[in-house]
Amino acid sequence: MRVEELKVSEKVKLILRKRGIEELYPPQEEALKSGVLEGENLLVAIPTASGKTLIAEIAMVNTLLREGGKAVYIVPLKALAEEKFQEFRDWEEIGLRVAMATGDYDSKDEWLGKYDIVVATAEKFDSLLRHGSSWIKDVKVLVVDEIHLLGSRDRGATLEVILTHMLGKAQIIGLSATIGNPEELAEWLNAKLVMSEWRPVQLRRGVFHQGLVVWEDGEVDRFSSWEDLVYDAVKRGKGALVFVNMRRKAERTALELSKKVKSMLTRGELRKLKELANSLEENPTNEKLAKALQGGVAFHHAGLGREERVLVENNFRAGLIKVVVATPTLAAGINTPAFRVIIRDTWRYSEFGMERIPVLEVQQMMGRAGRPKYDERGEAIIVSTTENPGDVISYYIKGKPEKLFSQLSNESNLRSQILALIATFNYRTVREILNFIDRTFYAYQRKDTYSIEAKIKEILYFLMENEFVELTLEDEIIPLPLGTRTAKLYIDPMTAKVFKDFFKYIEKDPNPIGIFHVIALTPDMVPVSYSKRELSKLEEEYYSLKDRVYADDPYLAYDPYYERKFFRAFKTSLILHAWINEVSEADIVEKFSVEPGDIYRLVETAEWLIYSLKEIAKILGASQELLDYLEKLRVRVKHGVREELIPLMELPMVGRKRARALYNAGFKDFESIARATPRELLKIEGIGAKTVEAIFKHLGREVKIVEKPKKNTLDYFLNK
Ligand code: ADP
Repeated sequence: MRVEELKVSEKVKLILRKRGIEELYPPQEEALKSGVLEGENLLVAIPTASGKTLIAEIAMVNTLLREGGKAVYIVPLKALAEEKFQEFRDWEEIGLRVAMATGDYDSKDEWLGKYDIVVATAEKFDSLLRHGSSWIKDVKVLVVDEIHLLGSRDRGATLEVILTHMLGKAQIIGLSATIGNPEELAEWLNAKLVMSEWRPVQLRRGVFHQGLVVWEDGEVDRFSSWEDLVYDAVKRGKGALVFVNMRRKAERTALELSKKVKSMLTRGELRKLKELANSLEENPTNEKLAKALQGGVAFHHAGLGREERVLVENNFRAGLIKVVVATPTLAAGINTPAFRVIIRDTWRYSEFGMERIPVLEVQQMMGRAGRPKYDERGEAIIVSTTENPGDVISYYIKGKPEKLFSQLSNESNLRSQILALIATFNYRTVREILNFIDRTFYAYQRKDTYSIEAKIKEILYFLMENEFVELTLEDEIIPLPLGTRTAKLYIDPMTAKVFKDFFKYIEKDPNPIGIFHVIALTPDMVPVSYSKRELSKLEEEYYSLKDRVYADDPYLAYDPYYERKFFRAFKTSLILHAWINEVSEADIVEKFSVEPGDIYRLVETAEWLIYSLKEIAKILGASQELLDYLEKLRVRVKHGVREELIPLMELPMVGRKRARALYNAGFKDFESIARATPRELLKIEGIGAKTVEAIFKHLGREVKIVEKPKKNTLDYFLNK
């Protein structure tokens, strides 16, 4: 169907045309004719990259232009929120305002009320619901991207609860990968279902086994090794995306492949890649990345820093990086198509040993094959070392993806959501709570709520026993201050209980090691793991710091589970402690065998948990002194600095390194900096013209400095 024929405002067509979209893809046409433009709910279950976002965009904008109100677009990851936010800003041209909301779970964010389209992560939107932001009632359309994550153990319940709250109040549009039971989900959502196997680029799938690629159509091609599939793609001027099951393997494979890929690159490419490699900050992870990059290959996993991840994605899309070796978790969602996708592993490690990677995930990985506009068709090949290719084809290629199952009954999710119902949504009786549960996908799927009822009662006892809620004489459940605060902080009630249990020790002798250890013991922190080799060193450190740790001695409990949990939290505490004492990222990576991405994750969670600890401490009657102490600690965690640098952290473009350099050069506060000459500041390591301009501007001084960027810095690379 041509965009012209769409029954929507001319304004919508204008933006589509500007994007170069003249024709709608067939599933888009079907979806837009399903009644979604008239306000009906819709579930779209179609393959990756077949234009789901556009369906939602047209439907959202159509409603906004017709009825006003607001649209909320939910994504699973911050990185995706950023991507969608940038895309949606195209609509600003026709007067719609677009905002992004992630992070900070303890805010009403009333400012969002001024915007028409809000892109948010699921957790953020759930927290906004709990805070009762006044603009929520204006939400006319709720889009849930990657709605199949409803079946994910950790995050599914959040989506399910959001949807249960919004069903009947707003138009719901769900965008899903192909799943096993789309009908069931659509029925629950009272939505029209649009399913399709159509793809913008043809996809050819096969299995590599003992020197042969067996394609789904029965044809066979000879390749001496799976690596040859990569080299062959590069030789043809195209790219390859390889999925493996572990970070280390991604790195090793990338380095290995880069040796040969390097010989296929032009001089110009080699030069650009070298510059790219030199622009990376120094740390052990980046060292490996830099080495691989010089051969036109990169790895991509959760251990990479944020900037590096974006750098890899952008340069792969631009064609400078020829091959990316990635772990599957990260590949979901981010738009990085490649001519050839190779799935090296279909098994991975889990808590319970090796497990098969679900069909749903493998199909999503395969869906990355084929770049619209560049490739006539894409190729996806699963490497099988032991399994018979026929079996792999029937399981992963011809096979049906898994069914979605509600994860609402997962204990930690349920505990948190039940408290939220009482403390922020004013549910007052078990009956009322059960009525809510009755409207969930859980109840829809199970047909009865009998088994969850017992769990809910158990949770209610827990909440009463720990003073989150109480029962009135009229048998009403009412929230207590601890309960209300916990629900709004968006922490697990169990986390609040841990804070409460340790409060008296913290109050008596607040110290960072002990406090970090406590937050790392809560279920809201996923602590880092340690190897057997590291244990004796950790034990040694523990005995030298024993009087600062509040938790019980791990060896007095005679419980191997507690012992492991204790030391994982302890290692996490040591990392955070190094971070706030300005140990360099590179040294932390080296000393603790973690990676930059892990440090970011820990720091982000730790900041939120220390803020929460402070808020819970208020309720428990903490002294102002302790609250001030915790606030300082939070800021130190946020920036990774010693106390004396805190005032400098307000300066723009100044992170922990630059702040330290300023401080050591004698610029310890705003006054001394305001008095400095630009030349004095430019002499300081890591401080360039742009930083000086920004700092002065912040302090009310307007200066313009002309300076060539220093060689081998990111500025240099970007300005060339
Ligand atoms: P999905 O969400 O289904 O994975 P996307 O919405 O990200 O897929 O779409 C993939 C790409 O296809 C985007 O770059 C988008 O701009 C483009 N696209 C979507 N619809 C059309 C269309 N009708 N014509 C041309 N390009 C389109």
